Amino acid sequence: MRRKLVAGNWKMNLTMAQAIAVAEGFLRFVKARESVDVLICPSFLCINKVREVLKSSHAEVGAQDVFWLDNGAFTGSVSPTMLKDVGARMCIVGHSETRGRFGKLDVPPSTVGYFAETDETVNLKIKALLYHSIPPILCVGETLTEREANATDTIIRAQLDGALQDLDASELPSLVVAYEPVWAIGTGQVCETPEAERICGMIRQHLTQKFGEEVGDHGRVLYGGSVKASNAQELFSQPNIDGGLVGGASLNAEEFSRIVMSA
Ligand code: PEP
Repeated sequence: MRRKLVAGNWKMNLTMAQAIAVAEGFLRFVKARESVDVLICPSFLCINKVREVLKSSHAEVGAQDVFWLDNGAFTGSVSPTMLKDVGARMCIVGHSETRGRFGKLDVPPSTVGYFAETDETVNLKIKALLYHSIPPILCVGETLTEREANATDTIIRAQLDGALQDLDASELPSLVVAYEPVWAIGTGQVCETPEAERICGMIRQHLTQKFGEEVGDHGRVLYGGSVKASNAQELFSQPNIDGGLVGGASLNAEEFSRIVMSA
């Protein structure tokens, strides 16, 4: 039996004081839902403080990204060792915003270049996180153009293959994959539940084919993309959807609490 996981991705939002206020607001509700794993991924700067606020609950903190080496001349980057040091328990990798695919045409090419994470770098990050016993949350998902070209399943399988290359089943007992259709992120346009369930099932099947039943059955597959309190219960009650990765709605303590209660 897989435990549900609801993870909040705060992205580049909330100052320290705001982050503390949201975490304190959330703390009042989260203790009532111990049967669901809860993770909050604040900015790097707020990880330690939010962890302190949440320490009387079972909710944990995670990071939104990582570099794959322990230290060195990589200006602006944060290593797995540093994440461990501040108490990050999981880490998002391959988010469509760090892959640089989201809104590619709306930002200057120099910005895309800066963020353009590839399947190869996602793979390096996953290996580094696993080495440091920080479970990754691997994000996969298609753009609208890819969906309209009927390439969704092919794209997602390729992202899984690239991100998990050269890894062995024994290294993946705590794998979490988040299906995040790029067109659904931050748009208010949620993927229809039957389609989200189909893709999450396809991801599970692909993991089983690649790594065997242990990984396929125990790995958790989340849905992310415009999850709200009003649609969470229907999504999370599907057999292959083990919870959600929540962006915008996780910035509001009460809304996020209601999403956690739905799981
Ligand atoms: C996300 O950024 O991972 C996400 C799912 O965002 P939102 O919930 O705002 O669509």
